[in-house]
Amino acid sequence: MSSTSASERPRIAIGGILHETHTFMEQPTTLADFELGSLCRGEDLLREMSETRSGIGGMIEAASARGWRLLPTLYATAMPAGTVSADAYQTLLRDLLDCLRGALPLDGLLLALHGAMVAEGELDVEADIVARAREIVGAETPIVVLLDMHGNISPRLVDVADVLLAYDTNPHIDSHARGLEAVDVMARLLRREIVPTAAYARPALLLPPQSTGTDDQPLTLLHARAAEMEAEAAVVCIAVMAGFAYADTPFCGASIIVTTDNEPELARKYARELSDLLHARRDAATPHSLGPPDAVAQAAQIENGPAILVDSADNIGGGTPGDGTDALAAMLAQGAQEGAIVLADAEAVALCRDAGTGATVTLDVGAKSDNWHGESVRVTGRVEALSDGVFRPELPDNHFAAFYGNEVHMGRCAWLRVEGVNILLTERKTPPMDLAQLRHIGIIPEAQRMIVVKSAVAYRAAYLPIATAVIEMDTAGLCSANLSRFPYRHLKRPVFPLD
Ligand SMILES: [Zn+2]
Repeated sequence: MSSTSASERPRIAIGGILHETHTFMEQPTTLADFELGSLCRGEDLLREMSETRSGIGGMIEAASARGWRLLPTLYATAMPAGTVSADAYQTLLRDLLDCLRGALPLDGLLLALHGAMVAEGELDVEADIVARAREIVGAETPIVVLLDMHGNISPRLVDVADVLLAYDTNPHIDSHARGLEAVDVMARLLRREIVPTAAYARPALLLPPQSTGTDDQPLTLLHARAAEMEAEAAVVCIAVMAGFAYADTPFCGASIIVTTDNEPELARKYARELSDLLHARRDAATPHSLGPPDAVAQAAQIENGPAILVDSADNIGGGTPGDGTDALAAMLAQGAQEGAIVLADAEAVALCRDAGTGATVTLDVGAKSDNWHGESVRVTGRVEALSDGVFRPELPDNHFAAFYGNEVHMGRCAWLRVEGVNILLTERKTPPMDLAQLRHIGIIPEAQRMIVVKSAVAYRAAYLPIATAVIEMDTAGLCSANLSRFPYRHLKRPVFPLD
């Protein structure tokens, strides 16, 4: 299939379909969700994705610098959410493959994929994409794939691709750099300088997302050892895959892919060593948390509040509804004094508004979006205040500014006081990224004994400066770090920490 002599510009096709699929979320991800994200074809792909700090942006930059003839296909991403509909996946795949056929003859194919995408009827999306592309480009044309390190990798994907690379950082600050590296690897393949030989190892280990930071153990250690191996001339690249525990597929979980230059034994040895190392450090990957009753009891012992009760299972930034009630139920059961919680519940806001400020109301709050976030709690309380739910963040460098701009709109809000507990009811779910969220309606964050935050990490900039303690809770929710809460059907067992 190779089209050019060495003196001509190599013809390299480029494209990608990326999604991190939470298969336990009920709502499917549709084509409309990809249209809300990024969806571009042909020359639009080069226009829209070049000069971005994304992986494909890095690929475009490096390939252009080398003077390659880039043949854009399709690039599509959507926010992490439920299983991708069969219609959306088949449409995107068909478009990508049609463009690929139109780009023949080719010298190489560069793909940006996630690794944890799941579609209705297809559990191994990335292997399917690469295998279908392989049928078109032929066995001799190199295919280099850049993955997110949250990908769940199957042996089949390792077989059908020539080289798999992955981000080395989480947060993913090196995606652009890895795009540059993918082009370097492709250049070596085009010069026939290397014969990529990959080995795959799986430590049978699920890491909750809370444990996949590359500045924390166990991944810091893995990357340090992988970097030593990569410094050897025989090693082309190493992908340390943390996996995405909420995508229920047979190969869900951590994995290691070591690619060498024609050294199969070395590849196997290193893949096994890294896999064993990760497995040996598995206890470092288990977050420690308290059940909500214990967490509330501990917070109540702390003299000068507020203690921050972290409800990371209902992490709004991770796509959950922000209406989980486990922590509220525990605060009410123990008669917590000056406890605060924000719940997204438009129906409850409407009831409070109808009753008016100063009225006493009895109503059910929270847990109305799905069956994953506890049960609605019947409360009787006083409507302390109503608001339009608009606030300007107090933090100067608010990292939600890219999303909200300078004003945050939570929809209309009500402050409902139930015994000693202050409930901020909002029409729209809003992550706890700023103290003005509470203060705008009159709840003083510094005067609380305990504050529940529905977030994994994003709350820290605003809340750590006033916190006297941080207590991680094991609550119900679709972003729970307690993986035994999820009804896996496809995952290959046994696997740590489930078995
Ligand atoms: Zn990721």
